[in-house]
Amino acid sequence: MKIEDVKVIGVVGAGTMGHGIAQTCIQSGFHVHLIDVDRTILERALKLIREGPFGLLRLVEKGRLKESEVDDLMSRIKITTDYNEFCRDVDVIIEAVPENVELKKKIFSLLDEKCPEETVFTSNTSGIMIAELAEAVKRKDKFAGMHWFNPAPVMPLIEVVRGPLTSDETINLIIELSKKLGKTPIEVKDGPGFYTTRFITAYLYEAIRLFETGIADIKSIDEMTKLAFRHPMGPFELMDLIGLDTVLHIGEYIYNITGEPRYKPPLTLRKLVLSGYLGDPRYKPKSKGGWRQYFRENQK
Ligand code: NAD
Repeated sequence: MKIEDVKVIGVVGAGTMGHGIAQTCIQSGFHVHLIDVDRTILERALKLIREGPFGLLRLVEKGRLKESEVDDLMSRIKITTDYNEFCRDVDVIIEAVPENVELKKKIFSLLDEKCPEETVFTSNTSGIMIAELAEAVKRKDKFAGMHWFNPAPVMPLIEVVRGPLTSDETINLIIELSKKLGKTPIEVKDGPGFYTTRFITAYLYEAIRLFETGIADIKSIDEMTKLAFRHPMGPFELMDLIGLDTVLHIGEYIYNITGEPRYKPPLTLRKLVLSGYLGDPRYKPKSKGGWRQYFRENQK
């Protein structure tokens, strides 16, 4: 498939990443099919795309989009909970369901059955090996990693992951697509966590471990990181944005494969996730809150 043939992008999962990816695609002239397990989630995604903190109305406020264009862009998204309807005429799939190997493989196997033969599959996995996900499909040459960053409409990088069986044609297509979406693609080889997630996981876990040793509190660590290193967010703020369940699961995955202790999830992180503190409730509606809320409400 050539980049000129890509008209419809299918985004699987309308959560933190999926809604932002869908927004980026419509802004770049594509049509989007967006699927999730229920309509409430899909309606919430549409609301975030229109009026969320990084949504279209914010671009209108900043003068980067005309108000009259918003409805036209929104009309490019078709929401559905039905995989038959979703798969019809999609050229490229971007999967963004939770970071769970079995769930992702089940969905890819279903997509392989229902999508046109030429449809190219990508996963926004933060770090599950592409070789592992591609096991679920016959079209292993048409399967690559397309790793976006949060918030998807804002962050410029796409880490393009070449699996052992990904064809050059697929990699070239995803690189061209990323550029058309206004992003900078950089190709990496397959491996648990690729480059960016290996790097960020070690950094985030180190911040938690230093907090656990009592060196400094959460607020101070965030402030120091911003002031000392000019990071736009501190590590705890970043985890609240990413989602603590995602931060936990990716570490478990990398640690299981590499056995390297720096990727072993710290106990405090696990406690928060088990207690329902999954990060910022604006993106994780079932979450009780993030790091600050947990310690305000539970540290007696
Ligand atoms: P999320 O939990 O916010 O959203 C996942 C969505 O998938 C939910 O709305 C859920 O209802 C939906 N879903 C579950 N089962 C489904 C199914 N069978 N069919 C369709 N939809 C289904 O998760 P997220 O943070 O958006 O993460 C999604 C993926 O993106 C993960 O692989 C994650 O590792 C990766 N990622 C996340 C971030 C981040 O900052 N959150 C950044 C880069 C990559």
